[in-house]
Amino acid sequence: MKRSDRITSVIIVAAVTLVVVFWIVMHRTRGTMAVVRVDGKIIATVDLTSHESQTLRITGVLGPLVIVADGKGSIQVMESTCPDQICVHTVPARSPGDQIICVPNHMVITVEGKATGIDALTQ
Ligand SMILES: [Zn+2]
Repeated sequence: MKRSDRITSVIIVAAVTLVVVFWIVMHRTRGTMAVVRVDGKIIATVDLTSHESQTLRITGVLGPLVIVADGKGSIQVMESTCPDQICVHTVPARSPGDQIICVPNHMVITVEGKATGIDALTQ
């Protein structure tokens, strides 16, 4: 194998990998709804298919939380009274099964919808 052949195959492998990753990201199923629970009780549902951003102010065990759906299918915690702020720093949830959890506030946001990723293709 010549050096140029090796470089060509590395480029091909890199290109194929890029296409596959891009394809998986693009085909990740989006959630249709986010369910917000505090202490296991549903206190709000948010329509993630809406194109308008929505701001939700809820009360957790410790205090108020501000949850924002961006109108592009993602939902995230913007403000929280919890000491660790893990929920605020959690990446926005958008695919079915994604969760944002605030342990101190006993709050869980779960994205619901069709099955995620590759499994969706076999249906
Ligand atoms: Zn939190």
